[in-house]
Amino acid sequence: MDSTQTSHQAFASLSPAVQRASTVVFDTLDDFVQRKHRQPDGYSYGITGTPTARGLEHQIAALENGKHCVITPSGQSALMTTVMGFVRGGDHLLISAACYGALKTFGEKWLARMGVEVEFYAPGIGAGIEALIKSNTRMICLESPGTVTMEMPDVPAIAAAARRRGVLTMMDNTWASPLGFRPLDHGIDFSVEAATKLFGGHSDLLMGSISMNDHDQYAVLRETQSILGQQVSPDDCFLVLRGLETLQVRLSAQSATTLLIARWLEQQPLVDRVLFPALESDPGHALWKRDFHGSGCLFSLILKPAPEQAFHGFFDALKRFVIGASWGGVHSLAAYYPAPLQAQRQFPLTDQPVIRLSIGLEEPAALIADLQAGLDAYAEVLYATSRKPG
Ligand SMILES: *Cc1c(COP(=O)(O)O)cnc(C)c1O
Repeated sequence: MDSTQTSHQAFASLSPAVQRASTVVFDTLDDFVQRKHRQPDGYSYGITGTPTARGLEHQIAALENGKHCVITPSGQSALMTTVMGFVRGGDHLLISAACYGALKTFGEKWLARMGVEVEFYAPGIGAGIEALIKSNTRMICLESPGTVTMEMPDVPAIAAAARRRGVLTMMDNTWASPLGFRPLDHGIDFSVEAATKLFGGHSDLLMGSISMNDHDQYAVLRETQSILGQQVSPDDCFLVLRGLETLQVRLSAQSATTLLIARWLEQQPLVDRVLFPALESDPGHALWKRDFHGSGCLFSLILKPAPEQAFHGFFDALKRFVIGASWGGVHSLAAYYPAPLQAQRQFPLTDQPVIRLSIGLEEPAALIADLQAGLDAYAEVLYATSRKPG
């Protein structure tokens, strides 16, 4: 057979097709003129997505037990797009002080200058949020547990207060993923994931998702996503679709190792606190146990106070953990959040530096040995300093 000949036999693949488009082609002039009517679900131009994007949105919505999903080019863009869809000048916006840093900065540096009244609230506020709701409060942003400091809010209590007062809620659910917690089932309006983390799972792409039940809100967010000029490459959609195939096994393996390591760290004399609601010792444990099904792969720790140099010792000694931002991939990561950043936060948890660990798929024993080496290096600096005369 001529090798250049193409087979016309039907072809079916187990993997989703990567469909690319800026231009979408129409059969008739009428179709073209009416193209806006295809939204929010259909295809009219690449900016609202192709079947590859829509396939991923359907899968994420199903995971979240929601009816609709809009994907965006990063977790931060998903947070920003949700706020931009519904909050206008003159509105009051409540953001937990433990929300993702870039969302808080967006509130402080952009929205506040566009006439939005931005207010940060104590992460553990729970039902007390009701006292902060005003007649112009439009949305409450929360995250559980809080970014880096891991405070646990009472999500159902906040959602119930917001509903009573007609206020929208957006929860950043990246830590647990919908396998560990489904915000929409607890009365939250918008569940946001940084798909960059556990969904993608391999530290090689950026993406975000917003899931919801209400069709009108979905239409608003589809339009907002497109007007803000945000769409995701179908190749990245393919990678996230592939990541989702292994999400459950990755998360369960990573969670088991994470719990083991957190428990080990808790026993180490140089460790002051392990910030991880899955541990009985964590102040958020009861809420976590009541609401969540899994413990994830991310936690933080505070070491016994020591000079900055000791932290250099700790991080330089790590061989398996790589130093870097982001988390949720198959390689373990360590990140450092300096003391001033903590102390200057509104409603601070600590004035000490925080170390955050994301646990991957490596052998637990190798990771523990790595952390032991880090703590030994930390101790060396700490005790050398404390031995100094004067
Ligand atoms: C990483 C992260 C984000 C932002 O996601 P990007 O895709 O990096 O923009 C938002 N929220 C949480 C909790 C995160 O960990």
